[in-house]
Amino acid sequence: MAQVKDPVCGMVIDSETAKYKSEFEGQTYYFCAPGCKTAFDKEPRRYAHPQQDQHRHHGHS
Ligand SMILES: [Zn+2]
Repeated sequence: MAQVKDPVCGMVIDSETAKYKSEFEGQTYYFCAPGCKTAFDKEPRRYAHPQQDQHRHHGHS
């Protein structure tokens, strides 16, 4: 039994009972709902590395 965080909505869920999961860069991510999984699958980088995204807010080229 392991508690993991849904990277999309931030909800804490149990990895053993989570019905929705995706693999990205060798890591498994768990989701509370199909909508969260779909959002992650569309832009996995955005949710797997949220801090990198913030650095790109400066300027627009
Ligand atoms: Zn969620």
